[in-house]
Amino acid sequence: MPDLSLRTQSCGDNEFQSGARSQSAALERLAFSQNKIITQRIIVLRALCPYAQPPTRRHHSQTFRLDPGAATNVIFAYKMDARRPGQKRNQNMMTDLHVVPARRGRAVRLAKGQAIQIINTHGQQVVDTWCFNADDMSEFMSMEHLHATLQGIFPATGDGLATNRRRPILILEEDTSPGRHDTVIAACDVHRYAALGCTQYHDNCTDNLRAALGQLDLRTADCPAPLNLWMNIPVGPDGKITWGEPLSKPGDRVTLRAVLDCIVVMSTCPQDMIPINGAACTPTEVHYRLMP
Ligand SMILES: [Zn+2]
Repeated sequence: MPDLSLRTQSCGDNEFQSGARSQSAALERLAFSQNKIITQRIIVLRALCPYAQPPTRRHHSQTFRLDPGAATNVIFAYKMDARRPGQKRNQNMMTDLHVVPARRGRAVRLAKGQAIQIINTHGQQVVDTWCFNADDMSEFMSMEHLHATLQGIFPATGDGLATNRRRPILILEEDTSPGRHDTVIAACDVHRYAALGCTQYHDNCTDNLRAALGQLDLRTADCPAPLNLWMNIPVGPDGKITWGEPLSKPGDRVTLRAVLDCIVVMSTCPQDMIPINGAACTPTEVHYRLMP
């Protein structure tokens, strides 16, 4: 695999923006020249760097690296050091972003105390999210038990997310969105799409869960009810629900910190028959990063 990393520098906020555009073009040219190796669509996340926002005269150094292990879209790491002069290095500023492609799932191991930040890259994508005890897959984050813990259905920043053994496995540490995440709707599956009139196989979150766990040689007997990040299911005073569009915006993020060694699984919900992934009914990729 040739080294496909690309390093450029830009200076100042405006120049950073234009630098990012030229970098994007350079990356696409580079990928084209290597098209026997890289055949997938190239995605460049130039809008997702919050550390580029404060105007600063200090040089930004960025590296994009293409990951040959990506199953569908190219995965790349996005690293940036935008420290002001004299500013101490913050590990959060050296970040590795990973993609969950549209309509697919990914499973990630988290050590106790570690966190995962899940980013709604395009703003309208629902992410079905599960969490299992790494030492015992029969213990998992359970929405039914969470409802009892919360005495409600909407987890908020600072809440522990309970397992079926009524102890927290994750803490919802950060949420930049309006906080509308669904905890009442089951993961979609082939039966759901058949009920909606689909006559052929349709990608679905239940199969994504199993496939993602399979990548880690893990399996689960059942598909627990997921925490549906950014899924907007308003509940009326009569108990009726509606299928709302996400209230989140591009770049909104949720940070989940592990209380136990655990496996977090994410599925970019492939629902394209009702507008839970936005009015366009077009599932998109999201990104995540692991944090110390
Ligand atoms: Zn789904």
